[in-house]
Amino acid sequence: MSFDVIIIGAGPGGIFSAYELVQKNPKLKVAVFEAGHALNRRKCPIDGKKIKSCIGCKSCSIMSGFGGAGAFSDGKYNITNDFGGTLYEYIGKAQALDLMHYIDEINLCHGGQGTKLYSTAGTRFKTICIQNDLHLLDASVRHLGTDINYIVLENIYAYLKDKVTFFFDTPVLDVKALEQGYEIVCEKETHHGRYCIVSVGRSGSKWMETICKKLDIHTKSNRVDIGVRVELPSNVFAHLTNELYESKIVYRTEKYGDKVRTFCMNPKGAVVNENTNGIITVNGHSYEDPAKQTENTNFALLVAQHFSEPFKDSNGYGESIAKLSNMLGGGVIVQRFGDLIGGRRSTPERIRDAFITPTLNATPGDLSLVLPKRILDGIIEMIYALDHVAPGTANEDTLLYGVEVKFYNMEVEVDSNLESRYPNLYIIGDGSGITHSLSHASASGVHVARSIVQKTQSVL
Ligand SMILES: Cc1cc2nc3c(=O)[nH]c(=O)nc-3n(C[C@H](O)[C@H](O)[C@H](O)COP(=O)(O)OP(=O)(O)OC[C@H]3O[C@@H](n4cnc5c(N)ncnc54)[C@H](O)[C@@H]3O)c2cc1C
Repeated sequence: MSFDVIIIGAGPGGIFSAYELVQKNPKLKVAVFEAGHALNRRKCPIDGKKIKSCIGCKSCSIMSGFGGAGAFSDGKYNITNDFGGTLYEYIGKAQALDLMHYIDEINLCHGGQGTKLYSTAGTRFKTICIQNDLHLLDASVRHLGTDINYIVLENIYAYLKDKVTFFFDTPVLDVKALEQGYEIVCEKETHHGRYCIVSVGRSGSKWMETICKKLDIHTKSNRVDIGVRVELPSNVFAHLTNELYESKIVYRTEKYGDKVRTFCMNPKGAVVNENTNGIITVNGHSYEDPAKQTENTNFALLVAQHFSEPFKDSNGYGESIAKLSNMLGGGVIVQRFGDLIGGRRSTPERIRDAFITPTLNATPGDLSLVLPKRILDGIIEMIYALDHVAPGTANEDTLLYGVEVKFYNMEVEVDSNLESRYPNLYIIGDGSGITHSLSHASASGVHVARSIVQKTQSVL
C-alpha cells in the first residue's frame, strides 16, 4: 500500500506525529506501523501467582504497543530543557518549551484535565538545596499518574483510529530508500511512503543501529546511567513532593567529581521490576488514585558514566552490571542502607524487622558485590547530602534496590528538522538518542509533523 507518511513506532513520538499530521492536514494518508499490540491488548502475563517472572513474550507489553514504553508509566510530563533530552539543541529552547506546553494542552483535552501541574518556579527549596551543595533543576511537571495516562492514550487512540491506518503486531524489518520516498519491509508485505518518520524508542535501539549502519547514517554513543532505587517512608520527602511532586536534584561527589542525580520520583508509589532485553532492572510507579497509593516514596539515584575512545559499548557496560545483580539475586536485589554502610548483606529477617515495608518483592542481598566502587561511593555521598534537605534519607532502614540502569540510544545525525541525510526520512524520539522522556519525545513528533505539513502544502 502507498501512503503519504509512514510512521514506524506508536510511542509518544509516533502518536504525536500522527496527531499533528491529521490536525494540520487531514488529507494526508498516514500509516503507523507498531511492533507491539493495540492498547487494549497490552497485558504483561506476570501476575505474581502463576507467572512470577518474565517469560520473554514475542512483543513485551510493557515496552511495546500503542503508547510505547510510557503506556504504563507514571505519566510525568516534564516541561523543561534542563533534563529529558537535548531536543533544544536542534530546535531551540523556546520552540522546545512551546511544543511541550502544546503537548500538555492535548493531554488535558483528552482526559488529563484536573491533574496537577507542579513547578519549581519560586520555590524555597532551591536555596535550601544550594546551601547543602545540592542543585535543584528547573521544571514544571504535569503528573498524569499511571491510571490517567492510560485514559489519555485511550482517548487519543479513539480520536486517531479512523483518521490513520494502524498496523499493530507489525514490526518493520527494513527501510529502503527509493528514488521517490521509502519502502518499508514487514514480515508479510511491503509498503511505500513519501515521507517516513522513524520513532522506535528504546526497544528499537538495536534495530535502529542496524538501519543506520545500512543507510550509512552517522551515530555516536558514550553514555549510560547506573544506580539504585531508593525507597523510604513518604513523609521523609513529603515537604518536597507535596510542593514539587518530582524534584530533580543533582550533586557533584567530593571524591570523584561525578554527578549523581535523583530521577523518577514516585510519591506514595511502588517499586517495580523492568525487563530490558531479558535483564531485570528496577523502576518505580505512582498513582493519582489515593486507593492505589502506598506509604512509601521511591526515586532513583543515578550516576552518569561517560566513556571515551576506544570504548564504545556504554550500554553493554550497564547490561553487564545489571546481569551481575540478576546472577546474585535472581532478579533485583534489595539492601537496607544500614546494612550497606555496615558492610553486611541484608537478609530476609533484617528486611522483615525494618520499620518500612518494601513494595517490591526483591531478593535481600549486598549491592556492594554488584555496583562498581566509584558508583556506590557516589550514591552513598548523595544519600548523606540529601539527608540535610530531607532528614531521614540516610536512615538505617532506607531501602536500596539495584540495579537501576538508564540506557541511552546512540545519537543519530539529523538536522534541525530532525531529518536525516536522506530527504524526508526523519528520526525522532528516544530512538534518535536526542530525547529521553515523554514530553521531549512527543514534542519531537509534533516538530517533524509540522515540517512535513509545510513541505506537503507546497507540493500537494
Ligand atoms: C516503566 C517506565 C516508566 C517511565 N516513566 C516516565 C515518566 O514518568 N516520564 C517520562 O518523561 N518518561 C518516562 N519513561 C520514558 C518514556 O516512556 C520514554 O522516554 C518515551 O516513551 C519515549 O517515546 P518514544 O516514542 O520515543 O519511544 P517508545 O515509547 O519506546 O515507543 C517506540 C515504539 O516503537 C515500537 N517499535 C520499535 N521497533 C519497531 C519496529 N522495528 N517496527 C515497528 N515498531 C517498532 C515499539 O514497540 C514502541 O511501541 C518511562 C519509561 C519506562 C519504561
